[in-house]
Amino acid sequence: MEKYAPNALELASRDVVARAILNEIREGRGVGPRKDAVYLDVTHLGKELIMNKLPELRELAITFLGLDMIKEPILISATAHYSMGGIPVDIDGHARKNNTEFIEGFYAAGECSCVSVHGANRLGANSVLEALLFGRFVGKTMVKDLENIELRKATQEDATTALKEIDFLLNNNGNETVPELREELQQCMTANAGAFRSKDTLQIAVDTVKKLRERFQNIRIKDKSKVFNTELQEALEFGHMLDYSLFIVESAIARDESRGAHYREDFKNRDDENFLKHTMAYMDENGKVSLDYMDVVLGKHELKERNY
Ligand SMILES: Cc1cc2nc3c(=O)[nH]c(=O)nc-3n(C[C@H](O)[C@H](O)[C@H](O)COP(=O)(O)OP(=O)(O)OC[C@H]3O[C@@H](n4cnc5c(N)ncnc54)[C@H](O)[C@@H]3O)c2cc1C
Repeated sequence: MEKYAPNALELASRDVVARAILNEIREGRGVGPRKDAVYLDVTHLGKELIMNKLPELRELAITFLGLDMIKEPILISATAHYSMGGIPVDIDGHARKNNTEFIEGFYAAGECSCVSVHGANRLGANSVLEALLFGRFVGKTMVKDLENIELRKATQEDATTALKEIDFLLNNNGNETVPELREELQQCMTANAGAFRSKDTLQIAVDTVKKLRERFQNIRIKDKSKVFNTELQEALEFGHMLDYSLFIVESAIARDESRGAHYREDFKNRDDENFLKHTMAYMDENGKVSLDYMDVVLGKHELKERNY
């Protein structure tokens, strides 16, 4: 890591380390049977510390790679494992309708939400903060709010709207399957909207995701049961993944700068003058995405150049 972050080394932030790993691989210095990994050597930590602090990781490497990190370097690579952004919420978990309004009775916490504590980067404590701290906090908000909210009665129309999506998936008799489409979405997003992006690759991603959304209309699931139907659940989730992917790529292509994990090879620097702002993305009923922006509240933080 001296080459990429001479001071922080492996402790540089995740986007920097991830890009370093992937850069070594794409420049042909990858190792392992498929040359798609790099070595992580932690042997200097010693058996005692590894067994105390990293026993699960050691087990994983032994099970899946046949490598014991106490004795030898293990193979690693960088992969998507967290989603920055999400349902925009205020600090109490109220979901935003737009820059100024909220949707009464709609709350979000955990990885699906975006409280905007960490901005555009995945840091070591994102999940703990979002899932545990805000999960508890937002739960308390909901209990408190209930005293003042008059709960609306669910109508037949509400039920019909909710069931429409499920009925479509259960009854549609097309010739596309979720595993195939999902594989294509994964490959497209990793290749074109992953750790390295540019206008050209993001345009490929926008076009591909739009085509996949069309093909999803031709979906068919085999399991038609209404109890514990995991195929139906996967299809539902995949439909939402398609929506979310379109939000990601349409937002990224409009952001002509690099910020945190959003790294544009055609705009390598952060541009605070034009892009120190949250992207607010909306989708209409025809699947068309429109973008707006919301100010960032810096609080006590000052803008600084990131330097590792
Ligand atoms: C490979 C990998 C490694 C990771 N490593 C770490 C790590 O080392 N440290 C760390 O802190 N974090 C790590 N994370 C991130 C962390 O696991 C997640 O941020 C965290 O689990 C999110 O929890 P959550 O409860 O918010 O969401 P989830 O755990 O994603 O739960 C959401 C649930 O909602 C369900 N759902 C989805 N759509 C619907 C719907 N329409 N209706 C009803 N239910 C629905 C899903 O099935 C799921 O059960 C990792 C993630 C991955 C993928």
